[in-house]
Amino acid sequence: MGNLKKAKSIHSKPIDQYTGIEVTGDFEPFEQKFDIYCRAMWDPKIKSQKTDAFFDGYYMPHAKARATDGFSLKDYAFRNAAWHVNNVIRDIEKSGEFRQEKPNEIRKEGFWDYYTSHDQGWHEPYPYENAAEATRDLKKIAGFCGIGDLGVCRYDQRWMYDSIFSMQGNGQKPQEIPKDITNVIVTLEPMDRDLIKTVPSALSGAATGLGYTFDGVSIITLAQYIRNMGYRAYATLNDSALCIPLALQAGLGEVGRHGLLINEKYGPRFRIGKIFTDMPLEISKPKKIGVREFCDGCDRCAKACPPKAIPFDAPSDHVHSESNLKGVVKWTPSAEKCFKFWANQNTDCIICIRTCPYNRDFSKLIHRLWFKLAASPFRGLALKLDDLWMDRGRLKTSHWWRPELEKIEKNDHSKRVKKRK
Ligand code: SF4
Ligand code: SF4
Repeated sequence: MGNLKKAKSIHSKPIDQYTGIEVTGDFEPFEQKFDIYCRAMWDPKIKSQKTDAFFDGYYMPHAKARATDGFSLKDYAFRNAAWHVNNVIRDIEKSGEFRQEKPNEIRKEGFWDYYTSHDQGWHEPYPYENAAEATRDLKKIAGFCGIGDLGVCRYDQRWMYDSIFSMQGNGQKPQEIPKDITNVIVTLEPMDRDLIKTVPSALSGAATGLGYTFDGVSIITLAQYIRNMGYRAYATLNDSALCIPLALQAGLGEVGRHGLLINEKYGPRFRIGKIFTDMPLEISKPKKIGVREFCDGCDRCAKACPPKAIPFDAPSDHVHSESNLKGVVKWTPSAEKCFKFWANQNTDCIICIRTCPYNRDFSKLIHRLWFKLAASPFRGLALKLDDLWMDRGRLKTSHWWRPELEKIEKNDHSKRVKKRK
């Protein structure tokens, strides 16, 4: 590694004391086959005609388009197009045949497996002067790749999937990320606010699909850059390891009651990517941003969740099923209730993101000031202000497609009210 000077560790205490993650004696590493979407492939308690139709619906001939606002052909057409590039990159099949003909040979890269679409890189590690130089360059490239926020943490074996889900053999295969990898780069890819306003709808799934698509493209590009500099890099989305504890350790935010990460720039509105690498990098410091205290006094996501999957009570190590991580004190939604709702409405749901007070445009000063208020002892006032001034209702998708219709309908409504008076 040439004349590389070792970075001084910023952590003088165990990492959990910075993140607030409380691991109990019942902790067990997670096996990916118990992830709710993997269970929908093999577990008769979850897999049904409805869940099969849910997954098939992401491919246009199988979309369940209907005459309901948010679920029209147009809405499904955009949602499925938003996923398309991601599908092309992720569905790598050894046989080269169409995915549905040989489902047992699929590698779902980004979801079950790490990405393999890489060229050979440089033959020896670049001799960076120090980790600060490597980190500065990496962040510059990340910005050009469209990554919204980025942090780095140490590799932590606890959050690695103990085994990887596979449709072949007995449903499990060994973890493939090497254990001598030193660092994890955690990335955030923002999702569109206006599309999220339309949830529940097939259209809002376009925000998720585009989030994954852009996330995949940006982390594959960043991983190839790292390889081109002579280091190892494995680009992953939801595969290989738990995203949220790594994001906490990488200083990207705090977890809310809905079980999602809340970030200073994007609130809860992003997809997470991870790159496992041995590139020497500066390690980020976890940050407390007041979310835990704010969520203690707010239960809006729990109330808004149609199947009541989000807990109303304090964080605990209670698990609802094998799809939850055991032995960590936290807010744990029921993955089974949540996914059943998705399958029933035939598209994914992010009502908990739409209704969360942190779902704001933090590029605006007024919202950054609100964030400070929410992190202060006046957090109750911040919640009241959100109730008073933020419209968190559902936007009709017809109004997303044609915003002028919303104005016309509002004018007609106020004329009718005046007439009645
Ligand atoms: S995604 Fe929807 S169903 Fe699932 S927890 Fe959030 S609000 Fe509830
Ligand atoms: S809706 Fe309220 S309780 Fe739920 S995550 Fe957001 S701030 Fe926390």
